[in-house]
Amino acid sequence: MKRFFLEDESKTREIGKILGEKVFPGTVICMIGDLGAGKTTFTQSFAESLGVEDYITSPTFTIVNEYEGRMPLYHFDVYRIGCSEEMYDIGYDEYIDSDGVCIIEWANIIDDILPEERLEIELKYKDMGREITLIPYGEKYEKMVEELNF
Ligand code: ADP
Ligand code: MG
Repeated sequence: MKRFFLEDESKTREIGKILGEKVFPGTVICMIGDLGAGKTTFTQSFAESLGVEDYITSPTFTIVNEYEGRMPLYHFDVYRIGCSEEMYDIGYDEYIDSDGVCIIEWANIIDDILPEERLEIELKYKDMGREITLIPYGEKYEKMVEELNF
């Protein structure tokens, strides 16, 4: 587990970029944090780092958006999902088991169906900035967090 203080938006973007350099095919990142905590901001620089050229916005109404980068990127926002079962209707299993990278905003809402191995990222309001906590589940993610130089 690692925790950092992000004093402004540029720091949120910086850590997103650094993490984007560390992903492997099949990476699953679970973002947890209140509205405005910085989940999408983080995802934007993370995606950029993956070579995605499109501008990323929250896929609130579509639940998932797909992007092409060095690897495919699947960006979920499950804020409006009624129940975890709905995720299977949109092909959740296929996305999670794919060789692409999944990043899920509001992952706590579907915590009963998150894969065992994943990186959880919690963003919290702190003073004028944010506090980020990286919690790895599984060896690959432990290594990812260990090697993170921020
Ligand atoms: P979420 O997707 O979690 O709802 P957004 O990324 O859409 O949040 O919005 C986050 C807001 O907070 C943006 O206005 C952004 O400029 C700001 N922000 C992001 N990171 C920081 C930070 N470390 N300190 C202060 N403001 C931040
Ligand atoms: Mg968002």
